[in-house]
Amino acid sequence: MMPISPQAGLCAICQHVRVIESAKGSTFFMCNRSKTDARFPKYPPMPVLRCGGFEKRS
Ligand code: SF4
Repeated sequence: MMPISPQAGLCAICQHVRVIESAKGSTFFMCNRSKTDARFPKYPPMPVLRCGGFEKRS
């Protein structure tokens, strides 16, 4: 697994994130909660410092 950018904030350690790497080498953090809850953007602006949906990855 690729190293996760600390610039992502909470998303970097959240169990609901999906990390996507583009062909050009950019990294995107997609919030899986966005699929079932409209309060969460698909690609949240980084860094996410507070989030009601955050759950730490175990
Ligand atoms: S629930 Fe919040 S912290 Fe977790 S991936 Fe989505 S936006 Fe990031």
